[in-house]
Amino acid sequence: MFMLPEEVNIAFDMLTNAGFEAYIVGGCVRDFLMGTDPDDFDITTSALPFEIKEVFKDFKVIETGLKHGTVTVVIKHFHLEITTFRTESSYSDNRHPDHVHFTRSLKEDLARRDFTVNAMAYNPVVGLVDIFGGRKDLENKIIRTVGEAKERFSEDALRILRALRFASKLGFDIEENTLQAARELKESLKNVAAERVYVEFTKLLCGKNTGSVLMSCPDILGVWVPEILPMVGFKQHNFHHIYDVWEHTVKVVENVPAVPHLRLAALMHDMGKPGTFSLDDKGVGHFYGHPKISTVLAGNVLNRLKVDNETRHKVVELVRHHDTPLQADSKAIKRKLNKLGEQLFFDLIDICRGDNMGQAPEYRSRQKHLDLVEETARSIINQEECFSLKTLAVNGSDLMAVGFKPGPELGEVLKFLLELVMDSKIENSKEDLLKVAVSYCQKP
Ligand code: ATP
Ligand code: MG
Repeated sequence: MFMLPEEVNIAFDMLTNAGFEAYIVGGCVRDFLMGTDPDDFDITTSALPFEIKEVFKDFKVIETGLKHGTVTVVIKHFHLEITTFRTESSYSDNRHPDHVHFTRSLKEDLARRDFTVNAMAYNPVVGLVDIFGGRKDLENKIIRTVGEAKERFSEDALRILRALRFASKLGFDIEENTLQAARELKESLKNVAAERVYVEFTKLLCGKNTGSVLMSCPDILGVWVPEILPMVGFKQHNFHHIYDVWEHTVKVVENVPAVPHLRLAALMHDMGKPGTFSLDDKGVGHFYGHPKISTVLAGNVLNRLKVDNETRHKVVELVRHHDTPLQADSKAIKRKLNKLGEQLFFDLIDICRGDNMGQAPEYRSRQKHLDLVEETARSIINQEECFSLKTLAVNGSDLMAVGFKPGPELGEVLKFLLELVMDSKIENSKEDLLKVAVSYCQKP
C-alpha cells in the first residue's frame, strides 16, 4: 500500500541514522490509504531545523519556511518538504498562531493538524500512526476535526473552508458536529487573508464533489462571496430552465473542466441574473443585460480574493461573453478568435457547453452546434488562415515602405486589410494587400 519513492527512503535513513524520528505525514498518507499515488511527500521529523540542515549538508537545502520549521531538501531532483514536529499555541486572530513551538513528540504534531484524515503518519519501521481515528473516518468518508471542532475553527478559521474543500476533493461528508461548528463560526472566515481563502476556494471548486458542497453550503461560501446568496432559490420562470439560478450555476460549474479559471467563470457567469430579472406579460422571465452586471460583480469578487491578473482577465472575459451567441460560420469565428485569442475562445466554448448542460434537457441539441463551432475553429487554425494582425502578410513597415506615414492611420489601414482577409474578400498575400492599401488611401 505504501510505495515510497527511493528518495523518501534515503531521507528516512539519513534522519534515523542521525538518531531522529521521521515519518511521511498528512495528505500523502491519506492518498496512500485511499489507493491513489500522492503528488508530493511531506516529511515530519523530531530533528530541529538546524539539525535537518546538518543531516542534509551534502544536499541542496532550501530554507522554505525556516521560522515554521520547514526546509526543502532536494534529493536527485526530488523536492522533499521536511518539517520539525511542532505545536501551535493560542490563536488570538483566528489565523496566526501566536507561537510555533518545536517538540520532540509526534503525537503533539499530529494533534495540531486540522482533520483526522490529515493527521496520520507513517514510516516503514513503525507502520501507520493513527491516534485520532483517521483511518476509520477515511473508510466512512468523513471529515472530522482533530479535537473539539469549535476550538479548532476558532484557532484558524481557514479550517472551516478547508473542511468544505476536502469534502469536495475527496467526496466525503462533513461530520455533523464539525459542520455545525463551521456554520456557527463562519463569520470568522472574514479574518482570514484573501490569498489563503482563494487557494482553498479554487481547490473546492475543482473538487470532484464540488456540486454537492456548493448546494449544501452557500451560506458559508457567502461570507466571502455574498454575491452568490441572491441566486439561491431564485426562480427563472423561463422554458429554457428547469433549475433556479443557483442550481443552474452549480450544474454549470460541474460541467466545465476542473480548471480554476473555468470553474470561477462558471460560478459567476449568472451573478447578474437576480438584479436584472423581469417578467413579461405572458409571465415569462427575462434577464436582459445580465452578463454586463455579472462581469462587474465577478470583477468585485476577484478583487476581493486578490486574484492574479492573468486569471482575472480570463474569468472576466468569459463571464462577459458567455451569453453572446457563437455563430458557426468561419467569418464570425475568425472575428471571435481575433477578439479573444485562441485559448480564451476554446475556454468560452467550454463555458457555453457547461451552460447548456445546466439548461432544460430539450435544449441539449446546442451541444452539436458547439461541436461544429469548435471543429470549424480548429480547422481555421490548422490551415493557418489569417485572423490576426500577427499573421497578416503585411505590417506597418511594409506600408511605410510604400509611402504611408507613421501614425494612427497605419493601424486603421492594417485593421481594414485584416477585415477583408477574414471575410475572404482578398488573399492574404503581400502583393495584393499593398495594392489594396494604396488604392484605399487614394480614394477621395
Ligand atoms: P492536498 O493533497 O490537497 O495538498 P494536503 O492534505 O496535503 O492535501 P495541505 O494544504 O497541503 O493539504 O496541507 C498539508 C497538511 O498540513 C494537511 O494534511 C494537514 O495535516 C496540515 N494542515 C494544513 N493546513 C492546516 C491548517 N490550517 N490547520 C491545521 N493543519 C493544517
Ligand atoms: Mg499538500
